[in-house]
Amino acid sequence: MSNRDFDVIVIGGGPAGSATAISLASEGKEVLLVEKGSRNRYKPCGGVLPLVAPEMVEDIVGESIPDDVRVDPAELGLYYVPPSGRDNSGRVKNYSIHNIDRAQFDQWLRDLAENAGAIVKHDSRCIDIAKTDNYKIVIDSSEEKTTARADFIVGADGVRSSVRQKLFPEKATPMMIVEQEHWEPTGDFEDCFYGFFRGNISISYAYLIPKADSLIIGLGAVPHQEPNVAQLLIRLRAWLEKEFSFVPKQLLKKEAWSIPFGYFVPGEGNVLLVGDAAGLCNPLSGEGIRLAVESAEAASSAILAADGQKNPIVDYARDIRGLSEMIKELNEFVRTVDDNGREKFVRDELSRGG
Ligand SMILES: Cc1cc2nc3c(=O)[nH]c(=O)nc-3n(C[C@H](O)[C@H](O)[C@H](O)COP(=O)(O)OP(=O)(O)OC[C@H]3O[C@@H](n4cnc5c(N)ncnc54)[C@H](O)[C@@H]3O)c2cc1C
Repeated sequence: MSNRDFDVIVIGGGPAGSATAISLASEGKEVLLVEKGSRNRYKPCGGVLPLVAPEMVEDIVGESIPDDVRVDPAELGLYYVPPSGRDNSGRVKNYSIHNIDRAQFDQWLRDLAENAGAIVKHDSRCIDIAKTDNYKIVIDSSEEKTTARADFIVGADGVRSSVRQKLFPEKATPMMIVEQEHWEPTGDFEDCFYGFFRGNISISYAYLIPKADSLIIGLGAVPHQEPNVAQLLIRLRAWLEKEFSFVPKQLLKKEAWSIPFGYFVPGEGNVLLVGDAAGLCNPLSGEGIRLAVESAEAASSAILAADGQKNPIVDYARDIRGLSEMIKELNEFVRTVDDNGREKFVRDELSRGG
């Protein structure tokens, strides 16, 4: 196609966007990655990755996660607590979780994208997309407004994706609010990621994560629910105090953001959505980083296969079907399960893998 500056413009430099840029630039595509945040931008996140993630990330981005991106304790056990409390709780056997610094992880990926040959622009927000013979975007950076054109757009701009809103203005993206607090270390906890399942605290999940010199606690709640997310966090703290001697002393930080809590949307035409923008996040654990990177790979493969001639959405949706079906089933589970079901879920998880 003529009159274009890049093969692909990726909007959003989180894990989904950076992994897409790495995959495409490594294959020789001319890629522009536009990120509205500055270098080392922090995204509210627990910063934990499941057991399989490092190997998968390495396969896709071509390098292993460096030590300085990891946080102490670098490896955590997985500990589940059912509605009935600590007496029936325990570690999931033969499983571990990786603890990372989210700001450094994202910057590491953006740097890899640049090393692979992508043009990476920080402090640059995409404020409009228009379709002519190809796609034109308008970028607002601190000094100026510029435009860029490409054959493909990848919307990797997170759960509140403006690319998705532009494509499907009539469909609001369902979300779950996740609020988390960083506390000075307290309580009787092992070096584990704790998942707490109790309907009067969260319909989906509550969690605790030990970080180098703090403890994160958090939970997911649907918007406008009563009690609201802040009141539910007070309940969580009270439960942790009773069961695990959690005594809140100093609150270091409090933050909230959202995760998708709906369905997978692959995009339209030559505009592909990846990661949270596509609705790919696990509503039972809040895990989204691995899904972001996996969807990035599928979207990149579809773009490479399309070679500018075909609509890549079909290939992408087919490649990602396993993930999107999993998200659908977990959504259904979260929306219908009661405390008996949560109790059974934890019991089954704890009896596995022996
Ligand atoms: C409180 C909380 C805790 C979580 N904990 C975990 C966890 O421990 N482990 C896990 O796996 N997942 C966790 N998640 C989910 C995880 O953070 C997301 O699934 C993941 O960040 C999705 O990656 P992404 O690249 O799709 O989107 P994002 O990481 O949101 O990246 C989107 C990027 O796009 C940029 N952007 C947005 N709009 C524009 C624009 N118009 N122009 C340019 N740039 C733009 C943003 O600045 C951002 O950098 C958590 C989520 C929340 C809210």
